[in-house]
Order: sequence, then C-alpha cells, then structure tokens
Amino acid sequence: MTHPHEFYRFLLDTSLHWELFEDTSGTIVYCSSACVEYTGYTPERFLKDSQFLECLIHKDHQEAYGRYKEAVLSGTSSEELIVQMKRVDGSVISLEFTGRRVQQGDQAITGVRTTVRRVQCEELSSGSSCIDMEHDPLTGLFNRKGILERLGTLLTHAEQNKNFSYAVIYLDIDRLKKVNDALGPSYGDELIRQVGQRLSCSSCDATWLGRLNGDEFLVLLQDINAAGVMRRVKELKAHLAQPFILSDHEVSITASIGIVLSPALYQRPEDLLRNANIAMRRAKLTRHRFKVFNSRLLEESVKTMEIEVGLNQGLARGEFFLQYQPIISLEKEILTGLEALIRWRHPKWGVISPTEFLPVAEATDFIVPLGNWVLKQACSDLVKLKATRSDMQELSISVNLSARQLAQYDLVDQVEKALAESGLEPQYLKLEITETVAMENPHLTAQRLHMLKAKGVRISIDDFGTGYSSLSYLQLLPLDSLKVDRSFVSRMHDNPDKRKIVRSVINLAHNLHLDVVAEGVEVAEQWSMLKVLDCEDGQGFYMSKPLGLDKVADLDVVGIIKR
Ligand code: C2E
Ligand code: CA
Ligand code: CA
Repeated sequence: MTHPHEFYRFLLDTSLHWELFEDTSGTIVYCSSACVEYTGYTPERFLKDSQFLECLIHKDHQEAYGRYKEAVLSGTSSEELIVQMKRVDGSVISLEFTGRRVQQGDQAITGVRTTVRRVQCEELSSGSSCIDMEHDPLTGLFNRKGILERLGTLLTHAEQNKNFSYAVIYLDIDRLKKVNDALGPSYGDELIRQVGQRLSCSSCDATWLGRLNGDEFLVLLQDINAAGVMRRVKELKAHLAQPFILSDHEVSITASIGIVLSPALYQRPEDLLRNANIAMRRAKLTRHRFKVFNSRLLEESVKTMEIEVGLNQGLARGEFFLQYQPIISLEKEILTGLEALIRWRHPKWGVISPTEFLPVAEATDFIVPLGNWVLKQACSDLVKLKATRSDMQELSISVNLSARQLAQYDLVDQVEKALAESGLEPQYLKLEITETVAMENPHLTAQRLHMLKAKGVRISIDDFGTGYSSLSYLQLLPLDSLKVDRSFVSRMHDNPDKRKIVRSVINLAHNLHLDVVAEGVEVAEQWSMLKVLDCEDGQGFYMSKPLGLDKVADLDVVGIIKR
C-alpha cells in the first residue's frame, strides 16, 4: 500500500458521502470527490472559493444555514440541516449537512468536519408535497407553480420595502419549435435542459430561475438597478448565442426577452407574469433584443391582439385590397411595371398600412394564406388590365414575398397556380424578396429562387443596402434586378453620402448584369440624378403614389412624368 496519508485520503475520496473540512476561519481545506456527483462541480471549485458553497444554497435556506454554521462552530455536539442546493445544470438537490467542530489534541488541526448526504424526497419534513410540485422535472428549475409562489412572496416584500428593487426577465427561445420539428421532441427536451443549465451558470447572482412551460424561462434579479439589469440581459443573450451540441447536431438559438422592472406594484403575481409576457411578445414581434414593459406596450399589445384576431376574418370578409404603384423607365419615361402593395380596410380603424399588420401576420403564419391571396389577386388584376389596354401589354407586376412564404415547400406550386389561374405569362411576374430575408438563409433562398426562375418568373432583391449582403452569395442567386432602398434615394439630392451609396449599388448591379429600380423617388432632382447614373427604373411619390386598379386603368403610359 502507498503512504498512509494517501491511503486515508483515498478512503475519504471514495466515500459515498461528500466530506468537507473547514478551518476555523471558514476556509475549505478539504473537499472529497463526491461533490462532483452531488453538485456537478469539481473539488477545486470549492477549494478555490469557500463562499461558493453558500452561493449554491437556496436563498430561502441561507439564513438557516448561517444559524447552523454558528451552532456547529460554537458547540461541541454535531448539528444537522437539510437544504436545497442548485446543481451546475440548474437542477435542485436536497442535501443533509451534518457538521461537528473537531480538534486534535494539540490543536494542530481545528475546524469543522462536515458530511453531506443526499436526502430522498420522502424524508423531507414538509412531506411529499415539496420538490416535485414546484419544480420542473426536466430542468430542475421552478415550475409555474413554484414561480407564482415566489413572485407572490416578492410582491409582498416589495410592498413592505419601498426601496426594494427587482427585475423579472422573461425569456422565450425562438427556435425550439424548429428543433422539435426537424430533429424530434427528445432533441427539443435536451435543448431545454441545456438552456436551463446555461441560464443557471450565467445567472449565479440570480435569486432564482424557473421554467414556465415549453421554451419559456423566468429569471429573477434582486437589488439591482436598471443599468445592471441591461448588463445582465446582454450577458444572458451572449451566453445563449453560443451553439448548443445535441448529440450529433449543433443548434444555434436566439431568445426574445421581456422585462418588468421595479417599482411596479401588482396585486397578483399572475399580473406581473402577464406583463413580462407582453413585453417578451413585443420584443419577438418587433425583432428587438428585449423590451421593458410599460403601459404603452400594453395598449400596443391589445391592438396586436385585435389585429391577430381580425386577420382571419378580414380575409374571409374581403377586407384586404391591393394598390399598385407605377414603376417608370428613366430612359424612356414610360410606365414599365406596377408593384402590388397590400392594404386592409379594417372595420374599426379604416384603411391600415401593411407595416402595422404584416409583422403580426408574419408572427402568426397568417402571412402564408395572405401572401398567396396577394399573388393570385395581383396576377389576375394585371391580366384584366392587359385585356382593356393594348398599350400595357409589356407591363409587369411586382409582388412582395415574405420570409415565411419563401420557407414554404409549396411556394413554387402556389406561384404556378396563380399564373395558371390568371393566365399571366411568367415573365411578367416579378417576385421581390428583401435583402435581409434573402441573406438570412442564403442556401435555402438560392434553392427556392432557382426553382422559381426555372418557371420563368423574374426575381428582384428589395430594400437593397439595408441588410448585409455577402457578395459571393448574391452571385449565387438567379436575380434580374436590385431595388435600392428608399432611405438612400429619398436623401440622395441633399446628402452626398447617400448619393455615393446609390451610385455604388447601381455600379454593383450593372457589374452583376442586373437592372436597378430606385424606390422612394420624391423630387425631380433625384429623378435627374438617377438618369445620369444610368439607373433603369424609378418608383416613388414624385411619379405616383400607389393607386387603386381603376386609377391604374386610366393612367397614361407615356405621360406619367409631370413637368
Ligand atoms: P416596400 O416593398 O419597400 O414597398 C414600398 C413602400 O414604399 C410602400 O409602402 C410604398 O407606399 C412606399 N413608397 C413608395 N414610394 C415612396 C416615396 O416616394 N416615399 C416614401 N416615403 N415612401 C414611398 P407600403 O405600401 O406602406 O408598404 C410597406 C411595406 O410593406 C413594403 O415595403 C413591403 O415590404 C410590405 N408589403 C406591402 N405589401 C406587401 C405584400 O403584399 N406582401 C408582403 N410580403 N409585403 C408587403
Ligand atoms: Ca417591395
Ligand atoms: Ca422596398
């Protein structure tokens, strides 16, 4: 056998229980390997920082733990205490501490000897109603019941202590459904477990963490100011942005975050939770990194809800209609195309802009049937127009495609259907995809666009200059034109920087053998500048606002530029 010293150490290290020895100043000088099994942390972690152990103990039990330690230090008999402790993966374990002050005869060794063992649920004094009723079995974090219970305590405390500050952070994982659909629910579960684990690791100063349901988590921070909260939110986001490894798959996620900051007085924990949820949903809808709840958000969310409910009925009741904005050739000064722009005649609010309802439609997938309706309507309107106007035979129609539509596997079928039902020849249909959407998933975009292109339709990149295009990806796409975003065009006459951008986009497009459409042409000066820059087409209020089909039917193809 080896040196006796090593042998005793070996005995302690292989003990089924977790053994600790602290000196009289509270420094941990020995920690057995069983801590790995109990907490997930290595002995070094505890040896490095003696406060760490206390940090893992549940907030509600820390006071009792303090009393227990005092009793152990001052007494001669052993003391016992059961506490809940947070493990590295965020799960909670119940442990029994048995500690006794020990001393070797000559006082060379004096300190506290502690044995920690795992407690089964049924051993807990509060009976079986304890852990499992308030914890989520998958992550070990508090479940909805546990969360509401703690929020209740928080609100009572906040009412009694006016200076008490807190922040409730509501996180929703954006891509869980995709993981479930693509890889199966066991991968989804694993992802949730790992997210819980990561949140626990990155929120060691959080008071507690919980999982509401599905992919929604709650983090409570206490005694923190607004700047501190923002810093923590940034850190949480950064932590979650690192890829997750799910056996053989690597998955990246993002999170939408809603925050409720104190002082916010609520009667019921459910109201606090609801407002945090509203803030999270606004963040998701507006694609902001996070939103802090305020009363304006509440009004907006009520409106969003009304929109959400109204969309379905709106389509069934024929409340949507299209307007068409003329697209003019700068060289020939004739009408060459129309862009279809959707409008909603809402029974309560009158005509509302797509910028108000499309984000809601996009978030609820309603954009897919709505987009298909636009496609059909626009094609059949153009055919109607061509039937009455012999001078409009070469006119093409531009239809905007949303991200969701592009992701639909039957997009090509829908386009073919719209063409077949209306009788429009494919070269007169131009599909617009924004630069941001195209670059979100360039491989899928390329695949879809090639399929569409094979059917003979034309393709344009919309709002060009506002996203971040990779030029090598851009080259992979089967494009016909680029639309320079109106934020550059409408300022190009008085802002040299914007003018430079417009010029560069035109040069870039021409090098790639693409036509350019400048949108947002508002004044004559812009029109003249674009002409000099050899831009092919223009669209904007200077030439015409979007018009109803009846007005388009009365347009003069050659006389559209007023002088
Ligand atoms: P967009 O595709 O960039 O459409 C052009 C927008 O610029 C239109 O706003 C149009 O009215 C506006 N506009 C045109 N000329 C000028 C101008 O000279 N100055 C200024 N300031 N604005 C001008 P609208 O109709 O409100 O549409 C907003 C956005 O909604 C569109 O931007 C498009 O992204 C989306 N959208 C509209 N209809 C549809 C649709 O049917 N499907 C999809 N997926 N998106 C649509
Ligand atoms: Ca467009
Ligand atoms: Ca645009």
